[in-house]
Amino acid sequence: MSIKFTILGCGSSMGVPRADGSFGNCNPAEKKNYRTRCSAVISSKYSNTLIDTSPDLRFQLLKNNIKKIDRVLYSHTHADQTHGINDLRIFYIKSKKKIPVYCDLYTKNYLLKNFKYCFKNTISYPAILKLNIIKKNNYFVDKNTNLNIKSIKVGHGKVNCNAYIINNKCAYLSDVNMIYEKDYKHFTNLKYFVIDCLRFKKHPSHFNLDEVLELIRILKPKKSILTNLHVDLDYNKLKKILPKSVLPAYDGMNFNL
Ligand SMILES: [Zn+2]
Repeated sequence: MSIKFTILGCGSSMGVPRADGSFGNCNPAEKKNYRTRCSAVISSKYSNTLIDTSPDLRFQLLKNNIKKIDRVLYSHTHADQTHGINDLRIFYIKSKKKIPVYCDLYTKNYLLKNFKYCFKNTISYPAILKLNIIKKNNYFVDKNTNLNIKSIKVGHGKVNCNAYIINNKCAYLSDVNMIYEKDYKHFTNLKYFVIDCLRFKKHPSHFNLDEVLELIRILKPKKSILTNLHVDLDYNKLKKILPKSVLPAYDGMNFNL
């Protein structure tokens, strides 16, 4: 059964253009430069597994015609990955079941503290989500589709982030500036490597272009897709300077696993 991976959003934390209308160095005439905040969905005929709930989630789901959400995996606590959580409400109302959410303990505590009403019944509204701790290896079976999602801790400045590897074919790391060397084996020779590439200049919590290209040289994925792109990185200018096997992401970009 085919599994489709869709990048719902590939923009940095403020998106492109930013809320004040600034495109930075990105050409507004190029549609692929319009970037919402990072999130992704893994779809089969029977299920949709969402990675993160960006503040642009409602718009992203409408644009990609996604009518149900079966589970949500969180990579980390940052606002651009979590603050669209309330847009999950309609999927609880439709299915009449709490949507399972998977994350690490740190993220669990953050979500419970900041979005308690989603997980605990209040006087006016029922809880819509159920929290689960993510395992190193997660197996989800939806009819005849098997999804194996590995979770691996990576460094993201002062916090950790969970990288996800889907069916040993595609890694998704939207927010990262360090992969532990002991874990390189998990990321080597993958079919798709979706990787944080914030900008040209070095950054304390995201990879920059030089660092990503060096990592790609070591890990040798068949295809690499750069995400979490800041206003510095124009789609066409970036495409021109990248090796053939490395592509800048755009919102809605998808491929089959
Ligand atoms: Zn982050």
